[in-house]
Amino acid sequence: MLDFDDAQKLLADAVQPVAATQHLPLRQAMGLVLAQDLTAALDMPPADNSAMDGYALRHADYHAGRALPVQQVVYAGHRPEPQRPGTATRLFTGSILPDGADTVVMQEHTREIDGQVEILTPPTLGQHIRRRGEDTARGTQLLPAGTPIGAAQIALLASQGVAEIPVHPAVRVGILTTGDELVPPGAPCGEHQIYNSNGPMLAALVEGMGARVVHMMHAADQEVAITAAFKQLSAQCDLVISVGGVSVGDRDLVKPVLAALGAELALWKVRMKPGKPVALAHVDRGDGGRTPVICLPGNPVSAFAVFAVLVSPMVRRLQGRRDIFPQVSHVKLRTKAPRGDSREEFLRVRRLADADGGETLEAFDRQGSGVVSSLPWASGLARIPAGQTISDGGTVAYYDFRHWLV
Ligand code: AMP
Ligand code: MG
Repeated sequence: MLDFDDAQKLLADAVQPVAATQHLPLRQAMGLVLAQDLTAALDMPPADNSAMDGYALRHADYHAGRALPVQQVVYAGHRPEPQRPGTATRLFTGSILPDGADTVVMQEHTREIDGQVEILTPPTLGQHIRRRGEDTARGTQLLPAGTPIGAAQIALLASQGVAEIPVHPAVRVGILTTGDELVPPGAPCGEHQIYNSNGPMLAALVEGMGARVVHMMHAADQEVAITAAFKQLSAQCDLVISVGGVSVGDRDLVKPVLAALGAELALWKVRMKPGKPVALAHVDRGDGGRTPVICLPGNPVSAFAVFAVLVSPMVRRLQGRRDIFPQVSHVKLRTKAPRGDSREEFLRVRRLADADGGETLEAFDRQGSGVVSSLPWASGLARIPAGQTISDGGTVAYYDFRHWLV
């Protein structure tokens, strides 16, 4: 059996970023990952400009009680004339500062009568001016390769006039569910059957990370069906995720099928709860390349937890991201009974603000690996280290879904 941390690293190291680069318009790059470092081509802002609606003057021209004639009005988007000594310029937020002016006085601190403006509050030299290049100076790094593109990155790139960026294409993921008992939602379901929740769940998890589900297949517990599915998926995907049929039961055929396909099985069992049966294989795709296949346990809660902590770093690495292990925080656990196991245990917990401004984790009352109702309730997973007992108020590592599922 493999320790959790070793397994997490091993799985992430078992895959390589998707090599290709494509140039896409900013809007279409949302959720994808930058493939090259980008450098600022422009100073932003491009010229000194006003941070306020008000008046520009030369600081040396200010004398308490003396009004200045208003030489010009400059709106944002218009070019100013150089400012003559002893005058003021009426301007607005974003207006370019005229040559000769060095200070802006906000409108609320002035009184304009008959083309003369009186400054009511003594100004400080240089106030209320946004300097050329103070946001981003030309030549500095805008974003490093490996940055996921979201609204903030799009804002910065658009502010530089960038219309198209180099990104890695979306990672293509194939999902294979297995099991004679499974019925797709929407179809009639007998008492001997259950609905396939892992398929839609995994598709949503994959797409929530900015990867693309290109195939969703289901195979009955038969070698022929599972073999055909793995062949097709590994030929057409960058990553295949299978779920169920990976344990040691009579109808757990995933590992024998992968072995018969000549796949190299890299990893067998991880010392974690929920989720012990996890396997990684590399299947020949027929063109000399090999496709990683990660096999998850069938219990929905196990599959969800294993996806969060073991599979999501693999997906981030395939996407070409720089940061593949999101932050883990340390938070106090509220628990009626002490918790601990010989395996690493990941509890479904909810993060709560307590009365004195701190935060604690509350565990869902039923931690069984089939209890799907724990998933929408939980905000993340609390990790109880193998072989340790955590009592009420003990501090545990906390994997927040807001970080681990994106
Ligand atoms: P297995 O690993 O195939 O033995 O499955 C373990 C448990 O998870 C069994 O109770 C299965 O019925 C259940 N299970 C497996 N796959 C799914 C699925 N796609 N959706 C819901 N439950 C599943
Ligand atoms: Mg099964």
